[in-house]
Amino acid sequence: MAELVEVAVPFPIFSTFTYRVPEYWRDKVQAGMRAVVPFRSRKLVGLVLACDPQPPEGTELKEIVEVLDEEPVVLPGLIEVGRWIAAYYFSPPGEAFRVMLPPGLLLKRADDGPARRFWPVRKQLGVVELASRPPDLTEKQAQAWELLSEVELPVLLTTFSRETGLSEAVLRALAKKKALRIGDVEIKRSPWKDYGRLYRHQPVVRHRLNQEQARVLDTIGLLLKERRFSALLVHGVTGSGKTEIYLNAIQSVLEQGLSALMLVPEIGLTPQAARAFRGWFGDQVAILHSALSEGERFDQWRRVQEGRSRVVLGTRSAVFAPVRKLGIVIIDEEHDGSYKQDDFPRYHARETAYKRCQLESALLVVGSATPQMETYYQAQQGDKYRFQSLQKRVMERPLPQVRIVDMRREFEKHGPGLVLSDPLDLAIRRRLDNQQQVLMLINRRGYTPVVLCRSCGHTEQCKNCSISLTYHQVQHRLMCHYCGFSRRVPDKCRECGKEYIFYLGEGTEKIQEILQRRFPEAEIDRLDRDAVRRKGAYDRILGNFASGRTNILVGTQMIAKGHDFPQVTLVGVLAADQALRLADFRAAERTFQLLTQVAGRAGRGEQPGEVIIQTYYPNHYALRYAGAQDYPTFYAQEAGFRSRFRYPPFSILANLLLQDRDREEVAKMARQVADKLKAFRDQLSTSQHMRIMGPAPAALERLREEYRFQILVKTTSRMELHQVLRQAVEELQTERQVNLRKVTIDIDPLTLL
Ligand code: ADP
Ligand code: ZN
Repeated sequence: MAELVEVAVPFPIFSTFTYRVPEYWRDKVQAGMRAVVPFRSRKLVGLVLACDPQPPEGTELKEIVEVLDEEPVVLPGLIEVGRWIAAYYFSPPGEAFRVMLPPGLLLKRADDGPARRFWPVRKQLGVVELASRPPDLTEKQAQAWELLSEVELPVLLTTFSRETGLSEAVLRALAKKKALRIGDVEIKRSPWKDYGRLYRHQPVVRHRLNQEQARVLDTIGLLLKERRFSALLVHGVTGSGKTEIYLNAIQSVLEQGLSALMLVPEIGLTPQAARAFRGWFGDQVAILHSALSEGERFDQWRRVQEGRSRVVLGTRSAVFAPVRKLGIVIIDEEHDGSYKQDDFPRYHARETAYKRCQLESALLVVGSATPQMETYYQAQQGDKYRFQSLQKRVMERPLPQVRIVDMRREFEKHGPGLVLSDPLDLAIRRRLDNQQQVLMLINRRGYTPVVLCRSCGHTEQCKNCSISLTYHQVQHRLMCHYCGFSRRVPDKCRECGKEYIFYLGEGTEKIQEILQRRFPEAEIDRLDRDAVRRKGAYDRILGNFASGRTNILVGTQMIAKGHDFPQVTLVGVLAADQALRLADFRAAERTFQLLTQVAGRAGRGEQPGEVIIQTYYPNHYALRYAGAQDYPTFYAQEAGFRSRFRYPPFSILANLLLQDRDREEVAKMARQVADKLKAFRDQLSTSQHMRIMGPAPAALERLREEYRFQILVKTTSRMELHQVLRQAVEELQTERQVNLRKVTIDIDPLTLL
């Protein structure tokens, strides 16, 4: 029973609204249900957050139009999590709740006709029959008809339009011309279909835990018994068998009648991981990640919601999975950047899980070989996390031998143009001779990252972004990795007209080519964002490598994450130091993490592993300690730097980014926002603790045709930070001088670029 409800509406506004409930809906409405509400001149689908809130004074309340659900779609605990996200990350509440719901239930406008109920059904429209080709087709219609004539029917309209980029309207027009028939298609969706096949040769085994593993598992067991919130950081070197601990922990959670949620990085959700979970927990497992189709995702979500799946394995947004009786949340590779959403709302899954576990009295376990500086610091302080470590690899396997090759020396010997140093070349040869496998990390995709005129020095830049264009040989085009802009390859310099175009540097494509020329007998494959663009490609590339068909796998950081390939005995790292040159306070941390992780892929089987790192900064501490797989010493040195310059974990950051097509305009807005922040800062009694830097042009000043300015706030008090930001935002919202949609607030930013 409720006469009034508090509703979050999908609109960029920093507050919720109170509505009256008409008689008919009063005994039906509950918190967590979606409702159609009038808002300004439209109808929106909002989420009911609470029943009978304290009504605001002096405003006339509108009535909700309709309630869309018969049961809540957002659980009570998650409503609190959503409120927390809205407050902590400065997100309009409507936007915060959007990320919690699976596609199909997303809050949206309900303007078009009477509001529909949005529970998706298991039937969707698809092309069920193709007739002969009529003569009067437009170009697009002809293209669609041709494509359809080559595939097996039925094809869902949504799938077709997603895979081809042609709109559903084209198909409907074809249906009108009687070129095809559209009808209901029953869909059977299972994200599991390929996993069994790909990894059949790697059976799922349960190991007897070693002493270190058993100690960590015991700790987890004790904490679970308490049935109240706690958080644990497990720091364990690569190959120390953390996954095995997690699987055992989940097992005991299930035995206690509770549920479990495990998050893995975006590209860490390998078929291997999925298969291990299936092997252990059978069809109790639901899997949630963004590569699933909308329908698959919805079905998995629904299984969880109905309590049919008590184990969830997923990426970032799975932190919102509607798991009941939550016993444990595990975050694998907790340092991974994909846990932070890089657009609205900019939440971090680890912090969100922390909050959720607090609210639901669950245990949070986060693990990594290279924890994020903040997490390790908090564990050292003992205030946010307890701490456990694993110092040894399983089965007494040695850590990989690491060799750092000084490329300055190699140049002296061989001159410019050298890509593979002698030691690396020799090491690859030896692996090929012994039927062992090699991973090669080059953290750049494409053929060459820079196209330069040797006569005038002009480099090819993106027309929308301040970034140079990468030459891609596969498409034979210059492409921007930020906005997708591409242009044909020039035969003369576009600046001076001379023909001295030079392709500078190496990306994955070029390395693959160089290796193929040098080792013609080897089977070489490439794993990067371009290579996995086609559906199924990721699984296929990894599958071929896992089965030993591929000898050398060249790739970006995608090859560094979590994989367990026992036959890899050599990892080569080319241009390890690129990231160190970035103007970002996390540059060293990032480099250390990447190198430690990729090095950790070597020697996970019976043969010991070797890692060869080529660099121009052989003495940089990030490289040296990554080589030694020595996290604590790296941490100590990096902490010195962070504390001197007051960066996290020794301060709290918020980055405000403003963007607009007009540079003058964005500079002006940025000044107004900064002034506002400074004014409220100065009202604090401890104003000296908060520094407001900028506005200044961002390092990547132009992106997707927009100019970008930033303001960085550094402080020691989260409360004061929120107070100042809230005051500034509220005043800017009422004054309407600055369009707040052009301002992005990033709390605890992972990058300042
Ligand atoms: P991490 O996540 O710490 O890098 P994994 O959990 O991937 O390590 O474990 C590395 C490898 O060791 C895997 O192949 C795993 O099956 C195996 N393994 C784990 N625990 C044991 C154990 N106690 N005895 C033998 N092998 C183990
Ligand atoms: Zn661009």
